[in-house]
Amino acid sequence: MGLTLSVLGSGSKGNAALIASSSTRVLVDVGFSHRQLRERLAAVGVRPADLSAVVVTHSHSDHICQSALKMCRKERLTIYCHSHHLPVFLTIPGFRPLNDEGLVRLFEETEFTVGDLALRGFELPHDAPGCNVGLNVLYSDSGRQHKLTIATDLGHLPAAKLSHFVDSDLIMLESNHDLTMLRDSDRPESLKARIRGDNGHLSNAQAAEAIVAIAARSRPGALKQVVLAHLSQECNDADLALRTMRGMLSLYGFPVVAIGLTHQDRPAVFELAAESGVRC
Ligand SMILES: [Zn+2]
Ligand SMILES: [Zn+2]
Repeated sequence: MGLTLSVLGSGSKGNAALIASSSTRVLVDVGFSHRQLRERLAAVGVRPADLSAVVVTHSHSDHICQSALKMCRKERLTIYCHSHHLPVFLTIPGFRPLNDEGLVRLFEETEFTVGDLALRGFELPHDAPGCNVGLNVLYSDSGRQHKLTIATDLGHLPAAKLSHFVDSDLIMLESNHDLTMLRDSDRPESLKARIRGDNGHLSNAQAAEAIVAIAARSRPGALKQVVLAHLSQECNDADLALRTMRGMLSLYGFPVVAIGLTHQDRPAVFELAAESGVRC
């Protein structure tokens, strides 16, 4: 059995993604109410009690919400967060009891394991208090190692961070907005500037350029699938995001990379098959 990525929902109204091997289930972000989380987990055949651990990427409310923390406490789930997160997370109602009860574990940029998964967080530029992390998930089966990388909120991808993404089988990356749609939207100029800024969100073009740079530095054929995440409902269009990514990959000679979409309102499931590739 390979590894399954079930993106329970992705976007500014809530984020959660389940990474599952046959024996380990890690939930990345808890940005939905406990009711929503339970429903979305049930839709992919998982109960909260089945979770091995939770990892939180940053403090924005679409990634960590008080109601979901109550569920984590009730189910006695271990929550992993970066050491820089802790002072900020302790100000979020519902987090302190988890810490007091020994359910919080801190990580820095070194590998930690949950069941048969190895995880490593790495900091990415985003305007979240504390810090924001991307996540590598490494998994071995049948003598083959799989690498899955998640990076859902980042203003830009610095060259120094490329190495974290290199040789991933699957990358879930935000493709947040189309620059023209953002410019023409009714949003206040200050918000547009924040989204476009170096600590905001990746545009479709930035996401495509980042994936080309990663693919160019990876082993030939290593990158099999890109999953587009955190699409803005107001300032993006799924077809446009897909076309931008596909066009750039074809232009630079990577036409066989599959491209998947995530949704705000429903789960999307992707599989890294044990033998080699990715199915969805
Ligand atoms: Zn977000
Ligand atoms: Zn954010």
